[in-house]
Parts: sequence; C-alpha cells; structure tokens
Amino acid sequence: MLQIRYYEDSEFEVDDYNEYFVNAECTPVLYEEKFIPVRCKNCGRWFIMKNTTFSHFCKRLISSNPPKTCRDHAMSHNFKEKLKSDPIWEIYNRGYKQHYARFMKGKMTKAEFSEWGEYAIELRTKAADGELELEEYQRLIRI
Ligand SMILES: [Zn+2]
Repeated sequence: MLQIRYYEDSEFEVDDYNEYFVNAECTPVLYEEKFIPVRCKNCGRWFIMKNTTFSHFCKRLISSNPPKTCRDHAMSHNFKEKLKSDPIWEIYNRGYKQHYARFMKGKMTKAEFSEWGEYAIELRTKAADGELELEEYQRLIRI
C-alpha cells in the first residue's frame, strides 16, 4: 500500500520510492507540478519536493521534544559550520573565550564582562555589515 503524507506547503514524503514511481496514476501529475524526488541526506528516506523549495533534507520529525525535523537539524548544523568557517564569528568566539577567562580569573568584574559582551556584539555586527575592516575588528575586540 502506497503511503503518502502531505505537508502544508505541499511537500510530501513517500515510504517507498520505487513503489511510488511505478504508480502510473500519480507520476504524471507529479512531473506536471514539477515535484522532484529527493533522498534525505540525514535519514536516507525519500521525499517529494516542489522544485521551488530546494533542500536535501526532509521534514520528518526526528525528535518530538522540542519538535525537530531533518531539515531543522540540517539548519542548526549549517549554523555550527558557519561558526567554524566565518572569520568574523571566529574572531568573536576567540575574543569571547579570552574575556570569559579573564572574568573567571577575577581580572574582570561581571559588569565589565557583560559590558564587553555588548561592545563585542556591536563590533561583530559592524564587521558583518562591512562597516569595519577585519583587522581593525580583530584589534578592537581584544580590548
Ligand atoms: Zn530526513
């Protein structure tokens, strides 16, 4: 028995790709609507997706508390990747660790540390917007 579950935004999942695509009744409809079959890179199961919302990840729930789908998982993964590869974030993280260490050693008060936090976010935003040169940003964030 063919199992298709529809999503609100008209993506849907299929439990068996082959079974689905030998089904002559629904295949032409799919191609007409420009739906494409994609294998989820997280769970490895097939889903059908509208070609306007391209993603390699399905929207099956992989955990319920908090509700999280393969696609949510991929997005938070991308965010972590961004932290690793984006120099602006890297500099910020390094600065944060430095200042946190100072605070832990008692060389900075809690008020000073939180003040620095606001200052650092401001710098990071400026750097991300291109208002601040990377070298200048790196210098200022250490202060
Ligand atoms: Zn998935």
